[in-house]
Amino acid sequence: MGKRKQKKTQIRTEFRKNYDQRARQKNFRDQLDSGDDDATPNPQSERLVGRQQVSKKRTVTGVAREGEAAGFAIELRDVDASCLSGRVIKVHSLTSTVRTPDGREFECSTRGLLKSLATDLQNVVVTGDQVTIRPGGENQAVILRVDPRRGVICRTSRKRQQVLVANVDQVVIVASAAEPMLKPNLIDRYLVSIEATGLRPIICINKVDLVDPVELQPAIAVWGQLGYQVVLLSVARGWNVERLRELLVGRDSVVTGQSGVGKSSLLNAIEPGLDLKVSTVSDESQKGRHTTTFSQLIPLSGGGHIVDTPGIRQFQLWDVIPAEVGGFFRDLRPYVSDCQFPDCTHTHEQQCAVKAAVAMFKLDARRYESYCQIFSGE
Ligand code: GDP
Ligand code: ZN
Repeated sequence: MGKRKQKKTQIRTEFRKNYDQRARQKNFRDQLDSGDDDATPNPQSERLVGRQQVSKKRTVTGVAREGEAAGFAIELRDVDASCLSGRVIKVHSLTSTVRTPDGREFECSTRGLLKSLATDLQNVVVTGDQVTIRPGGENQAVILRVDPRRGVICRTSRKRQQVLVANVDQVVIVASAAEPMLKPNLIDRYLVSIEATGLRPIICINKVDLVDPVELQPAIAVWGQLGYQVVLLSVARGWNVERLRELLVGRDSVVTGQSGVGKSSLLNAIEPGLDLKVSTVSDESQKGRHTTTFSQLIPLSGGGHIVDTPGIRQFQLWDVIPAEVGGFFRDLRPYVSDCQFPDCTHTHEQQCAVKAAVAMFKLDARRYESYCQIFSGE
């Protein structure tokens, strides 16, 4: 299984070359090369407009390389009864905070051998990892072992894949009905990236107090038919916040979405006491308002966690190769096998079952347009 995944990753490399021709990753790669585990992308790329923005910061999700996916599940001789298992809730460049099931927190260094095992990988230990630690002094411990990872979100640069967080269940795409206006095609992009990770997407449309919900129906109906969970809410009015909380409790959720859609407001409403800063108009013009540069797991009072990291809040995909995009559109998938050419791109081909389905109104034209945009890298 793992071997197959690696193959997939290799194909992706070719696509990255495409982007690299535009040479926009320099700064980011420098950051990575500097060995800073907490390197965060350029905050200005948070706006998802146009190709340039997209390629400047390519936070992506995807299947980890084989070594990553397998974790570092090496049974070490010196794991003994004094050792504890725990969860990494935060990683600074050299130390990690690990919480054990009884609620204690340990500041941990990483065992030297473990570090050396992962020379060409970005992170030996990432937020969300399940680990085995050996307590030393008070609240101090050493991480001896990292369990195999599932549900990873990665950020990829040319040669390296940096896992931002491991062992998460779902990704909440936060959008707003207005201010900023709803961009269904952008949500489709998020969906494609999340499909590629195998995580469960939840579409959450905030600020419905600002519009007539009927306006949102066409897009929402299509996503709903595809089996995606869609929650319309208004944090300002308290509408449906409870509904979203139910979907989050007991799970580990990454929250993503454009700036200004109300992510901080929403998280504060879900978990009072979190006290995340809500942007004001004057903040909008300031860059770098997120002061934290590290990922962390924020526990929810009912169980589960919210993953908060500046990198993930703004995460984008764009690591799916064009040929894969169709496979991540749930609605296109049933038609592709009927196309005349096995490598049909569903764009210019004459005998294309996908295009025929759009013409017959079996496939939503807006979704098809999203497909074409993503396929062509727009
Ligand atoms: P973030 O950048 O995604 O974290 O967004 P913020 O939580 O900082 O919110 C951005 C702005 O949207 C703030 O001015 C909020 O007061 C406002 N806002 C958040 N939720 C709602 C809502 O449900 N309705 C309306 N009208 N405004 C909201
Ligand atoms: Zn086709």
